[in-house]
Amino acid sequence: MLKVLKDILFPINCLSCNSHGGKYLCRNCLGNLNIKLNLKKIRVTNAEILVVTFFNYQDKIISEIIKRLKYGYETEITSTIQDILDIVYINYFSTISRLLVDRTVISVPLYPLKKRKRGFNQADIISRIICNKFGLSLLAGGLQKIKNTGAQADLEKAQRENNLKDCFSWDKKLTAPVKVLLVDDVFTTGTTMRECVKVLQQNGVKDILIFVFASG
Ligand SMILES: [Zn+2]
Repeated sequence: MLKVLKDILFPINCLSCNSHGGKYLCRNCLGNLNIKLNLKKIRVTNAEILVVTFFNYQDKIISEIIKRLKYGYETEITSTIQDILDIVYINYFSTISRLLVDRTVISVPLYPLKKRKRGFNQADIISRIICNKFGLSLLAGGLQKIKNTGAQADLEKAQRENNLKDCFSWDKKLTAPVKVLLVDDVFTTGTTMRECVKVLQQNGVKDILIFVFASG
């Protein structure tokens, strides 16, 4: 009953063709998504870290989905991301699964106040889906965001780096895993990722692979 009411009051249309089906991406448009495995490397304190992604942030539909990841309804977002990652899983299982062996999944955290306001962390949504698909476990609470950095998008690169400096930490009550899959929704300048990687390295993580939903 509640769902019926919600559909009437807040209808969700396909972000691509506008058809009404209660999903951000209908079956048809889902099939037309532009998926391409993209591997790049970033260097953080002498280690080369591989970044895996399947979508370009500049793609109009993908950037709309990312916006919904931040400001949409959790259930519908989860279902849309699940549908998209199902296709990725089917097409790239053999390539990705071998990279994921023995990894513990860690999401890039939000500042607690921000997470409370939003109701969820969008990186956690992606992480949970990956864990279910590949039989990995999620370690929550280890990596923490300890500084409220505000909106990064409005800042210049140098300001961005400065703003994010030392904004993550590791909860020493938890033992850091040796092999980690670090997950986030987007990768733009990579500043956030570098800061997270540094903290993981400082706390004993030896092998880090990054997965992002989309890269800019
Ligand atoms: Zn559609």
